[in-house]
Amino acid sequence: MNRSDSEEMAGRLLAVGCEEASTFESADLVVINTCAIREGAEQKVIGRQGHLARLKVANPGMRIVMTGCAVREAERDGLRRRFPAVDLFLRPDEEPELVDRLGLASAQGAIGSLGAIGTTTTVGRTLVGAADNLSGTRARAIGEGTVARGSAISAWLPIIYGCDKTCTYCIVPFSRGPERSRPFDDIVEEARTLALAGYREVTLLGQNVNSYGHDLAPEPRFAHVDAERWAGRRLDLQGRPDLAELIRAIDALRTADGRPAIPRLRFVTSHPWDLSDRLIAALADCPSVCEHLHLPVQSGDDAVLRRMGRQYTIEHYRERLDRIRAAVPGITVSTDVIVGFCGETEAQFERTLQLLEDVRYDQVFAAAYSPRPGTPATKLVDDVPPHVKRRRLNQLLAVQERIGLERNEAWIGREIDVLVDAVAPPRTHDHDAPDRADGPRVTGRTRGNKLVHLAGDRRLVGHEVRVRIDHAGPYALRGSPVTEQPPIPR
Ligand code: SF4
Repeated sequence: MNRSDSEEMAGRLLAVGCEEASTFESADLVVINTCAIREGAEQKVIGRQGHLARLKVANPGMRIVMTGCAVREAERDGLRRRFPAVDLFLRPDEEPELVDRLGLASAQGAIGSLGAIGTTTTVGRTLVGAADNLSGTRARAIGEGTVARGSAISAWLPIIYGCDKTCTYCIVPFSRGPERSRPFDDIVEEARTLALAGYREVTLLGQNVNSYGHDLAPEPRFAHVDAERWAGRRLDLQGRPDLAELIRAIDALRTADGRPAIPRLRFVTSHPWDLSDRLIAALADCPSVCEHLHLPVQSGDDAVLRRMGRQYTIEHYRERLDRIRAAVPGITVSTDVIVGFCGETEAQFERTLQLLEDVRYDQVFAAAYSPRPGTPATKLVDDVPPHVKRRRLNQLLAVQERIGLERNEAWIGREIDVLVDAVAPPRTHDHDAPDRADGPRVTGRTRGNKLVHLAGDRRLVGHEVRVRIDHAGPYALRGSPVTEQPPIPR
């Protein structure tokens, strides 16, 4: 979501005549888009303060904007004290005001007079690298309105902002506010525009995409949505569109010869409680929807889930997964896990490990719990010692590394379609990556979102290539294009 927000902000600035800076030293405006989901991410911003202050001394006209999840209303005064070099703080929901608040709107048309911008797309990147990441986006920003997309192959498409859930460890409901769904037709129209612009992959984006539509006005054309009522779950849609309707409408966008106009449609993130039967049916019916589901579980123990405020039980989670796997055979599944949450016992942690063994995820994003100021969980005792959190995290990652390797090895000798999205970096120490002595390499993703390294050069980027897999690591596959043919036309 932060990357998508950065693309929107960069697009707005480019549209009023700003130009992208090649270095932060040459920028007149720096926008820092913060992440506060974990303590480490916030610390990175703090670590940049000295650098930013020095930049401002060298260039007193420079303006610095801080936005993202670290900027919360209750924290504004504290932020001003902690980050004196910052001129403007914007909450995530205030980002559309960026141009106005900087007084740039009236400068529209005065291209070149505003100097340059530098923006960070995530806090974790180096400043200059982040600026480089936006290279070449200007033309697309003008062509598509106000979004400076960082890729010409894959696009983020936000469908719902904010979150109504109350996970006790999470800062998002406080930083991004309540759920606001974008109008159904606007999203479908944006998807159509992306298809016409040649995008091969679109990811529908939201903190909880599964609750899309519940806050929109009912419409007669969605009267049938009420009939199934999310299999009796919490959200009562009463004739409003849901994610299943949206996916079906985007899938219905077709080329002249009847193929999906957007060949790969993804969505993230799904809350297990709101994963409806209607959505599962849409995944099974729509050929454009990729066979991959990211379904955060966070813990394998019901008592921990209750303390986390996650609303579901492990029984419910497993039932949803079983149903999806029956409806979409071969679907890959990834998840998020927090270890060492308040009060987590060894036995409770073991239940999370057991869940990994049972479900056999393709990928797990795991983190040790760190309390976020202002969240309900700060009222609980953070009683798992740091060394125990670290040990549990390492233990869990080791289990998943074995499972991931086993699952990937099952692909050796088989063929799979890979959407090539990048030229592999010149040198890598990743043990999944190929030996580059045998020529240029590119990387891409399968429909199941598996990373694949393959022989080929930049001419393959943007194309879907049939690849035979000959090597597997825990985090990636390696293979060769099956034929020398020109790649499938875009
Ligand atoms: Fe945070 Fe829970 Fe909402 Fe996800 S669903 S953004 S973890 S409150």
